[in-house]
Amino acid sequence: MRKEVVYVDNNATTRVAPEVLEAMLPFLTDFYGNPSSIHTFGGQVREHVQTAREQLASLLGASPEEVIFTSCGTESDNAAILSALENDVRRRKVITSRVEHPAVLSLCKVLQQRGYHVEFVPVNNRGQLCLDALCKMLDDETAIVSVMWANNETGNIYPVLEIADIAHQHGALFHTDAVQAVGKVPINLAKSNIDFLSLSGHKLHAPKGIGGLYVRKGVRFNQFLIGGHQEYGLRAGTENVPGIVALGTAAGLAEQHMTDERTRVAAMRDHLEHGLLKSCPNARVNGSPRSRLPNTTNVSFEYIEGESILLLMNEFNIAASSGSACTSGSLEPSHVLRAMGLPYTALHGSIRFSLSRYNTMDEVELILEKLPPIITRLREISPYGRMAEGDA
Ligand code: PLP
Repeated sequence: MRKEVVYVDNNATTRVAPEVLEAMLPFLTDFYGNPSSIHTFGGQVREHVQTAREQLASLLGASPEEVIFTSCGTESDNAAILSALENDVRRRKVITSRVEHPAVLSLCKVLQQRGYHVEFVPVNNRGQLCLDALCKMLDDETAIVSVMWANNETGNIYPVLEIADIAHQHGALFHTDAVQAVGKVPINLAKSNIDFLSLSGHKLHAPKGIGGLYVRKGVRFNQFLIGGHQEYGLRAGTENVPGIVALGTAAGLAEQHMTDERTRVAAMRDHLEHGLLKSCPNARVNGSPRSRLPNTTNVSFEYIEGESILLLMNEFNIAASSGSACTSGSLEPSHVLRAMGLPYTALHGSIRFSLSRYNTMDEVELILEKLPPIITRLREISPYGRMAEGDA
């Protein structure tokens, strides 16, 4: 039988909620019509796409017409930034932060190669954005400012409402990559100056392959995928109906579970964090404990390698990660922690624990039982590590 996994890697991807699976299944079996079809068989599906749009809009505090479905968070990020540049050809500058996900950073590198001007706002050693630097970068050449709502590695939350206001004062648009924030923290776009917001289904208990993009009413948006008239003519391609229904259902569930996420899940995260700091010498939390996601903690165990820790935790079927899912696999230290100026000794030994409503306190206790001896064992076989354990 499959050994039960202790899954604390929910910022990489999440388990599909049973209610979500149940809601989407009929659209893979009986209701396979095309929502654009004239006949009733297809037309009945259209209603479900609309319901899902309403559910997602409600989670975001937006109107349904402001929400379009995409294939993933990466597509939404790319579409928003490219659209802003295409719509005002006199403005050739993008401002973003050094700690964005590769979905934004890699696009920005390509934009630089294409002759656009990109500026990267630095962060301090807690990962907080340097707002003064951002203000100085803004000028009437700036087409768009793109800053994530919450960081996938540290969980840090950024003051996106304030940044949107500042961007608008300079006539620039504002986009936020809210892939990690949606469903975890309250969002009310109607009361904001945010122009574009990206999200991804698989981070909130819907399956992979479905995402969303909020485009504020009145903001010009250039199609990223060109073809048919789906999604109000803003995103071509036959709708991923099962994925859309899944995302709508997941959004409804996220709204219901938001308080639980911010209390019970946060309490488990805090218990894990305090327990690790208490039992492991030379461990430190990366990020800003005062303003971060309720489910995430990023802990550096100094003088050892994060990958070795992950491998030994894996022997107990504990699944965590040492960076973003997209950069893990390379042994490069995280660009986020590097931007925060972490000392070399802490940079390589960082582990991200990201919880969800499916975790339990028993699982947290299991990690607290298994991990400290792993840290001690790894430090025993590393000359620097012995110093960290205090017996040098
Ligand atoms: N933005 C952030 C902050 C993320 O964490 C991720 C995924 O890890 C993405 C964008 C990309 O989302 P997707 O996997 O849906 O393309």
